[in-house]
Amino acid sequence: MAISEVELRRDTHTTPTKKNLNDLIRDLGLTKSNAELLTSSLKQWNLLDESVQVADPRKRHQPFCSFFTRQDGLFVCHNVTSLFEAIGIACNQNEWRLFTDSSSRSLKAVLLHNGNKYPSLLLAPSVHLKENYNSINILLDALRYDEYGWEVIGDLKIVAFPMGFQGGLTKCPCYLCLWDSRDTKPHYHRQYWPQRTEFSVGRNNVKWEPLVDPRKVLMPPLHIKLGLLKQFVRSVDKESAAFKYLHDFFPKLSEAKVKAGVFVGPHIKKILECNEFPNKLISKVKAAWDSFVAVVRGFLGNHKIVKLRGAG
Ligand SMILES: [Zn+2]
Repeated sequence: MAISEVELRRDTHTTPTKKNLNDLIRDLGLTKSNAELLTSSLKQWNLLDESVQVADPRKRHQPFCSFFTRQDGLFVCHNVTSLFEAIGIACNQNEWRLFTDSSSRSLKAVLLHNGNKYPSLLLAPSVHLKENYNSINILLDALRYDEYGWEVIGDLKIVAFPMGFQGGLTKCPCYLCLWDSRDTKPHYHRQYWPQRTEFSVGRNNVKWEPLVDPRKVLMPPLHIKLGLLKQFVRSVDKESAAFKYLHDFFPKLSEAKVKAGVFVGPHIKKILECNEFPNKLISKVKAAWDSFVAVVRGFLGNHKIVKLRGAG
């Protein structure tokens, strides 16, 4: 039986509910006052379900408030399991990784979904905590890290704190091996350094008791890329056509920065997309560049050609 178009339209016409409105506000990324303005306008035009109140957008965060507490200058989620339950997703610690980052004034911790199916979950925004061992200790303690044991990711500076490393330019900065950063002679020749098997306070730049199992620490792909590119650019002959090209390619970067290989993520993307640059390189350097591109595209990117089989 055919239904007339008018009937169909009337059947499917529903006024948005509180949930529809909340979804829209979140997708638009509206501030609280803008969300309130939108709600009151929609309400005036009779475009909202009767149950929706104008003040609702202001209370959107309320169901989740009870899972956060303020302590030691830190606003932190003290019950991650319940927060997951309230959002409506299973709390499986193997599916998430804990990302910490900081600026000079603040420190924050976010849960990232492995595979990025879900958006990131902010667990501890702080504006007072400094980036140091104590802050990370307080943070992990408040999050009850021991119960969850997430894998941890962050740049090498941040990772050094939960590993209990002394700050600054140390002799043994690596948490995986005993690489000697001051032994410059074999820098490019020696490939094998003994693995770090123990973390004893007072030895090999370990200053405090480690807070996290080193096997739980993930290397951030971006920083691996930045490090490799830095080493590459530093070793390129400064008088060569390739270096001059690189300098002209990033006109906003000072020559000192290009010389020191100080780049950021988007620079890497730009230079990888450039077809002209590899042509300026000479044999050995070109081979090194090709290897770098292969590692970035095949191993560190989102589409890895290396498949890791099983565990171990
Ligand atoms: Zn190492």
